[in-house]
Formats: sequence, structure tokens, C-alpha cells
Amino acid sequence: MFVGHYGISFAARPAGRPVPLWLWFIAVQWLDVVWSVLVLLGVEKLRIVPGFTEANALDLYYMPYTHGLPGSMILSLGFGCLVAMFTTGARMRTALLIATASFSHWVLDFIVHRPDLPLYGNSAKVGLGLWNRPAIALSLEALLLLGGIWLYFRGRLSESVTTFVFGVLMIALQSYLFFGPPPVSDKAAAWSAIVCYVVLAVVIWLPAVSVMFLPLARLIVSPLKSRLMLLLACKMMLEVCESRSR
Ligand SMILES: [Zn+2]
Repeated sequence: MFVGHYGISFAARPAGRPVPLWLWFIAVQWLDVVWSVLVLLGVEKLRIVPGFTEANALDLYYMPYTHGLPGSMILSLGFGCLVAMFTTGARMRTALLIATASFSHWVLDFIVHRPDLPLYGNSAKVGLGLWNRPAIALSLEALLLLGGIWLYFRGRLSESVTTFVFGVLMIALQSYLFFGPPPVSDKAAAWSAIVCYVVLAVVIWLPAVSVMFLPLARLIVSPLKSRLMLLLACKMMLEVCESRSR
């Protein structure tokens, strides 16, 4: 699962306000973030086998640390404690909420993965294999993501339009991953995963940045000054055009 995980981050954020949304984005993909790093280090392993499932070519044959049941619990709890250390307010509650969001990754992976999630060591692997029903898997991802966004913005629908557009773009990205060409190698799959997680977290963080700087920008450039600057800019552009046409 990929974009469906973000539905959990949107749904959980209102319960854990001290933690910014971009950090919830990392929390729900934390197991995969560590997985990408361990694959790049050669510790966990996968093979690219075209046609391995109907939705992707990933033969995830060795990932006991990040996607094994005990390992995923420990990593989730560890990330919850790490985030709680840097937040204010009810730290225990924050740690538990973040740990639960992080562990939801394993539960949702269990629905779509084929049996490649070990219950202990690298054995007793489970997975319901919804990746072999790509249309249903994609619908589930879209439902989770858009449902999560709806829960996040409930009662403030006019504010949710840009986030819903972002959600639709994420579903388009998921469709490409399902029906586009497979990754060229195991390392390429890990790199593209980690880049996606970082870029999506940065994108969801960006509006917060603009909101922070907006009052400052308004103070510096009053509406009158901005109109004057616009007129000056237009005048300069006209002069440049005239000088070039001569
Ligand atoms: Zn995963």
C-alpha cells in the first residue's frame, strides 16, 4: 500500500494537534522509510520480477526487521517516543498516537501484500494479496486517502479543496505505480520510495510555511506599495520591450 497510508495521517491529526501533519506523513510511512534505507544498505532484500503480482513487480522476500510483526511494533514504538520527545503537552498520548499510526502501516500492508510479512524472524509470512486485484486495491487506497482528508476537514469543506486536489494527484501517482513500468532494480525501487515519502511530506508542509510568512509579507508590502511596485514593474518591462524592438 502507498497513498492509502496517508488517509490514516489525515484522520489521526485532529487527535494529535501538537504534531504537524508532515510528521504524521512520515509516521505512517516510517516502516517503509527504514525499509528503503535497509534495502539501500543491503540488509533487507527484494527482487524485481515482472508480473509477480498484478499491481507491481516486487518480490519482497526478505524484510524481517521493518515488516516483521515484532520489528514493526518496535520501530513504531521507537518513532512514537522520538516524536514525543520533541513535542510539548501530553507526551505519553503523543507517543502512543504516533506509534499506532506508524503500526497501521503494517496492518494496511497486510491487506494488500501477498504473504511476505513475517510473524517472526523471516517465517510464518502473511498477507491477503489484494495486489492481485489491482482495481479493488486502487479503490481501497483512494477510499482511505479521500476518507482521511474528509475526516480531517469535516465542517470546513471550503478549506479542503486544495488538499482534495493533492489527494487526486496522489491517486494518479499510485495508478502510475500500479500500471506503469516496473522499477529497473531493487535499489531504484528503494530510492523512488524514499524520494516519494520525503517529497510528499515537504509538499504537505509547504502551505504551513506560506501561512507563517504571510503576515510578515503583509507588514512589509502594504496593498498600496504592492500596486505601486506592480506599476513600476510593468513600466520597466515596457521599456525593455521598446528598447529591444528598436
Ligand atoms: Zn510497507
